[in-house]
Amino acid sequence: MEITLIRYGELALKKGNRKYFEKVLVQNIKAKLPKANIQRQTGRIFCEVDLPKEEIIAILSKIPGITSFSFATRVERDFTAIKDKWFEILSSNPELRSFDNFKFESKRADKSFEIHSDELSKLLAEDMIQKFPEFAGKVKLKDPDMTFYTEIRHDFAYLFTERFKGVGGLPVGTAGKALALLSGGIDSPVASYMIMKRGMKVDFIYFHAYPFTPEQSKEKVLELARILTKYEMKSRMFVIPFTEIQTEIRRSTDPRYLTLLMRRAMMKIASEIGKSYKYDALITGEALSQVASQTIKSMICSNEQSELFVLRPLIGFDKEETVAIAKKIGTYETSILPYADCCSLFVPPNPIIKPDLSDVVAVERNLNASLLIEKAIGEKEIIDI
Ligand code: ATP
Ligand code: MG
Repeated sequence: MEITLIRYGELALKKGNRKYFEKVLVQNIKAKLPKANIQRQTGRIFCEVDLPKEEIIAILSKIPGITSFSFATRVERDFTAIKDKWFEILSSNPELRSFDNFKFESKRADKSFEIHSDELSKLLAEDMIQKFPEFAGKVKLKDPDMTFYTEIRHDFAYLFTERFKGVGGLPVGTAGKALALLSGGIDSPVASYMIMKRGMKVDFIYFHAYPFTPEQSKEKVLELARILTKYEMKSRMFVIPFTEIQTEIRRSTDPRYLTLLMRRAMMKIASEIGKSYKYDALITGEALSQVASQTIKSMICSNEQSELFVLRPLIGFDKEETVAIAKKIGTYETSILPYADCCSLFVPPNPIIKPDLSDVVAVERNLNASLLIEKAIGEKEIIDI
């Protein structure tokens, strides 16, 4: 069986904590591949598991902390054994021989191996050209179609031809936990992913204003949470009934303040839940000045309601940059399904874009906000994913 060789770049830089980061990464891999035999070696993780390659690729390419991985054949650290193994691999896999140009590339993780990397690559290429005369004249060192990699490690040599990209970043669970305000839009799923990728465990909170927003809206957000959970082990979603708060805000205030007051109520509730369930931070999908409620003045007004630190990873992003990530991580197609979001429903034509905090607080006094907020928190639904 081929062995999966897993690389993790940035982790290796965290000197003192490196062992801890590696341990968490191994745990996260084990959680997704419970039947795998996993070993840790300096700078690499090796994984043996009896599953189709496509399945392994789908799983490993979504585990933060992994920069890349390859399916490798393990062979004794001996030049003859290595070249014989390459011959065997090439003989039995005609698809590996159908290139226009190629190179051998070698790396010695263990420098005590007697042949230097460049020399080893050259000897292997020469040997293969001798055995497959059609390879002659096809060596190309810069960007060839096919690269035959040999990695010499302390225990064995590892031979492989492909590198699959991982998401990079840091293992989920090494950086605390955050609660993401997840709407059905394009932005907040991307924001959640970006924080996960930096090592935080992310759970979700969704404000549901049934029947203004149909049940499908909740289903859609739940589906987004499920897609995002592929990047971590498991997650939970708090669903907060938002209808009464929204109705009260509409009833009693100047419509120009509507969105802003809804945002403040959301922040307040998320912060309260965040505190009781010991989250370290909140996450939103806001980007500076994307809409009226995301100008700096508006965000200052909503931010004021949170006692937790609020992460806004998309703050400097243009929409196209966010869309590109949404497509890459697989949330885009779900995000663009046309179900209403509670905030898009009653958007006034002329919202306040430069609100003053003291004005907002004055407007808010007309509301029965705190009782309704408490009630909504009491009626939350918790869904484990
Ligand atoms: P998104 O694409 O994430 O909806 P957006 O650019 O459309 O973001 P808004 O809809 O104005 O912006 O919302 C700003 C942020 O507030 C969202 O990114 C999300 O974090 C949060 N949010 C908005 N509506 C909800 C909701 N119904 N439930 C949970 N969070 C919400
Ligand atoms: Mg939205």
